[in-house]
Amino acid sequence: MPTILITGANRGMGLEFARQYAAMGWRVLGTVRDPMAGRALSEAGGEVYVCDVADPAQVARLKASLAGVGIDIVLNNAGIYGENQSFGAVDPAGFMKVVAVDSLAPLKLAEAFADQLTGRKIIAAVSSKMGAMSDNTSGGSYAYRAAKATLNMVIKNLAIDLGPRGILTVALSPGWVRTDMGGPSAPLEAATAVAGMVKVMAELTEGDSGAFIHYDGSHLAW
Ligand code: NDP
Repeated sequence: MPTILITGANRGMGLEFARQYAAMGWRVLGTVRDPMAGRALSEAGGEVYVCDVADPAQVARLKASLAGVGIDIVLNNAGIYGENQSFGAVDPAGFMKVVAVDSLAPLKLAEAFADQLTGRKIIAAVSSKMGAMSDNTSGGSYAYRAAKATLNMVIKNLAIDLGPRGILTVALSPGWVRTDMGGPSAPLEAATAVAGMVKVMAELTEGDSGAFIHYDGSHLAW
């Protein structure tokens, strides 16, 4: 049975990814931070694992729990936007926290699980156009923009380092999506954005590895 590991699978797009992969007959391994927050994931057909991806001890525990399990896709979905990010008000500790969750954790997850990849052998991350130099016309959001730009470089780097092992990587852009993070004014439903990203991962080839791909399948400039 194809298997996907999804971080931050208790709400938002992570939960929707869990629903859609479970509906396609995949084995879904989902992570939550709060042990009490796994109910929706469980009802969606996912197996619940507790992991704060920014905590190396919890990542090590997750790896131990999944020892010997073959995984087709490691999907780094968990992310935070952060607070106090305007010029003149940037909080150093807050900035580093966003980088820890949005950029460093996907790299550490890749290090932890690269050896367990099988079948499709994909490491994906939900990035954002806010991390694209080419898309930045409004400034602000220092931590989030910097963290997603860093994530994009991590994904590109992993494509080069892990390509010889047959591993494909991709930075996904979901668009602006109605979730707790995206807010109520966002134009896209999670189901639509996630369905698009599921298709992108299903169609991913060696030639696409290391690319930045929108939910509609178009390749984006960095
Ligand atoms: P939500 O805020 O709805 O959900 C975020 C998820 O990430 C939650 O499950 C949350 O867990 C989890 N999470 C946060 N920090 C950690 C951590 N340290 N360890 C483990 N899990 C953590 O966000 P979305 O569903 O909107 O976002 C999903 C991804 O998509 C993010 O990476 C985001 O940056 C990206 N994105 C979102 C856009 C949008 O418009 N919504 C646009 C572009 C990109 P908990 O419930 O415990 O907080």
